[in-house]
Amino acid sequence: MLPAHPLCLDHLKPAERAFLHATAGFCATEIAPHAAAWEEREELPRELFTKAGRAGLMGIMAPPEFGGRGHGKLCYALAIAEVARHCGAFAMNLAAHNALCVGHPLGFASDELKKEIFPRAVNGDWMVAWALTEPNAGSDTGGVDTRATPRPDGAWELNGHKLYITMGLHSDRMIVVAVTGTTAKGRKEFSAFWVETKDCTPVRKVKTAGVRASNTSELKLERVRGEMIGARGTGQSAALACLDVGRLGIAAMAIGLARAAVDTAAQRMLSRVQFGRRLAEFQALQFKLADCEVELRAAEALLLQAALLADRGQKHTLESSVAKLYASEAASRACDRALQICGGWGYTRDTHVERCWRDARLCEIGEGSSEVQRIVISRTLLKALEEQGPADR
Ligand SMILES: Cc1cc2nc3c(=O)[nH]c(=O)nc-3n(C[C@H](O)[C@H](O)[C@H](O)COP(=O)(O)OP(=O)(O)OC[C@H]3O[C@@H](n4cnc5c(N)ncnc54)[C@H](O)[C@@H]3O)c2cc1C
Repeated sequence: MLPAHPLCLDHLKPAERAFLHATAGFCATEIAPHAAAWEEREELPRELFTKAGRAGLMGIMAPPEFGGRGHGKLCYALAIAEVARHCGAFAMNLAAHNALCVGHPLGFASDELKKEIFPRAVNGDWMVAWALTEPNAGSDTGGVDTRATPRPDGAWELNGHKLYITMGLHSDRMIVVAVTGTTAKGRKEFSAFWVETKDCTPVRKVKTAGVRASNTSELKLERVRGEMIGARGTGQSAALACLDVGRLGIAAMAIGLARAAVDTAAQRMLSRVQFGRRLAEFQALQFKLADCEVELRAAEALLLQAALLADRGQKHTLESSVAKLYASEAASRACDRALQICGGWGYTRDTHVERCWRDARLCEIGEGSSEVQRIVISRTLLKALEEQGPADR
């Protein structure tokens, strides 16, 4: 079953609808039966990424000449939501892979480097990670301390420390944001690099509350060779542009997780009897269900708005942040209500509701926390107002 409101489907091309139906089939056979076991093992199997690559899920938006499917951002978001209904950890990996690990080199790498990267980064041959965060650089990306210095052969040498990198230690290649100098304004100059993960030094797999099957890594770079992606000094602006699309993916992940939890809770209301009545007859629980539905529809509408703007090629920083902020907080509330409706059973690992509840929480933190989204939204609004000038106020 497709996750989103039917209105979303009206905006898809026939090939995109077919892709989403195929994705639902992929989820039913390759993900749903195994997701709980991956969570227990705290690992996603390598062959899952290979199969996902063959199914087009690793290059949803990449043009066909690079080996991708060439679908739009709405299709990408709906595919991520469908995967999230079954496995939040894998949905997060796919969201990051498509928007950041593929989006970054597609948008900014030289033709020569693209030839090296594609199609292996989208056909499942390679897993790619995207490394911005560091011990001193989270919300404040200006804290990045990883340094890149030129080598005699035209490549660069990277030294630094990266933290909380999705797929990091399981990846084959990595995109690393590092400092290459100082700008004319005296600020750090950031550039992005393509590196081989085998050259990096593993520190640990970081244990997380949710998305446990995802490989969240800490690693060090010690004299690692890197090739610059795009022009020198464009690392931060490229990262921010990729995050505009990434946030659509995180909003979609949140909606998929919440839909899964709420569906289970609604079924529970119909089947569980207490005090001689089905839970469905208790108004307190009916209201929880209604609140979930209202908020998830609002989240879907915001996601649709942002994705449609993105598909038209328009600037969508504000809309992506609004969708990500609202969807992630609404999903946490919905998962919490769903768990409460399911009672003790909801809190156990006999159902996936508690997993959705833990996984959804990540969406309020990853790819810019809720506080950072509020900063982006208010700054964008105020900047636009200021640009109108005093006469228009
Ligand atoms: C499971 C997982 C996977 C991840 N995957 C990746 C990845 O693949 N690649 C990558 O580069 N990073 C990744 N991250 C890192 C993630 O993007 C950061 O955790 C996130 O941006 C928040 O940064 P931080 O954790 O350092 O929190 P901090 O920046 O330390 O923030 C702590 C708190 O302070 C708040 N805060 C910070 N600044 C302000 C402010 N100016 N005003 C108000 N409040 C503020 C924050 O919102 C937060 O609530 C991942 C993280 C997790 C948990």
